[in-house]
Amino acid sequence: VLIPLLGLGLAVYFYSGPGNFSEEMLRGKRVIVTGASSGIGEQMAYHLARMGAHVLLTARTEAKLQKVVDKCLDLGAASARYVSGSMESTAFAEEVVKEAEITWGGLDMLILNHIGHSFFDFFNGDVDHVRKLMETNFLSYVAMTVSALPMLKESEGSIVVVSSISGKVASPFTAPYSATKFALEGFFSSLRHEFIIENVNVSITLCILGYINTENAVRTVSHVIKGAPAPKEECALEIIRSGALRQRELHYPASIVTPTVLLRDFAPDFLDGLVRSNLRHGAA
Ligand code: NDP
Repeated sequence: VLIPLLGLGLAVYFYSGPGNFSEEMLRGKRVIVTGASSGIGEQMAYHLARMGAHVLLTARTEAKLQKVVDKCLDLGAASARYVSGSMESTAFAEEVVKEAEITWGGLDMLILNHIGHSFFDFFNGDVDHVRKLMETNFLSYVAMTVSALPMLKESEGSIVVVSSISGKVASPFTAPYSATKFALEGFFSSLRHEFIIENVNVSITLCILGYINTENAVRTVSHVIKGAPAPKEECALEIIRSGALRQRELHYPASIVTPTVLLRDFAPDFLDGLVRSNLRHGAA
């Protein structure tokens, strides 16, 4: 009895079928994208613009954000604007949400995607770096969620949290980053329960990403990781799609992420060996 039940449970848990996604679902929607000046966030901004959404973009570098906003307007965004600042400060995180409230009077989707700079190397004992990264990669996500919740409840909207395979399975050389991504899963999974208990119709989608070909990721890890990265444009589209479909979890690329997550629980020592063998020796 247990084995078929387990099989059924896994099938339901990992189900991410085609659903009924249509780009029309995003037309006229009011969406905040953080970390939108480069990488996956920038690509999400372009997809949303093409779909006719209103976008509010944020990151630190104003010149890059201005260029992304201009391109979004060319692509057909219903409207596009930016707020620049650092997510090291929860006050700034709240300010971004306030801007959406002032501009739109509401919000349909909050896409939390930014990350602060970290290193890819042995953990050097720098506790301040861990604290700073927790503030940028985790606490600002919490602060934005708290501020946006009244508007998202009103619109029955969506929260999309961009995480990583490093938030499910730890690998060497990523201790502070991995800690911030594991924290996201704990916090947002607990919140999802509470929404259900309190009949709050706001979806939470956790996006578990493998290696993606953004400039920063390739620069940081290409000399260490074996295997080719997946395309950021497709990744960005999959994130928007899973958020619009109110899926619990996205695995991208699924062919790598889903088996890895399965192995974590069934054969952790075997998986740890695989993780280490996927890194070039002595290359950190
Ligand atoms: P990028 O480094 O390309 O982009 C990061 C974004 O965050 C930029 O817009 C950057 O802009 C912004 N940012 C950096 N520091 C701060 C800060 N202190 N305050 C506010 N914004 C900041 O990242 P990716 O596109 O590669 O990654 C996007 C998401 O995907 C992240 O959550 C990452 O963990 C996840 N992911 C990516 C993988 C990959 O291989 N690329 C793998 C697994 C997960 P600016 O510098 O102008 O502030």
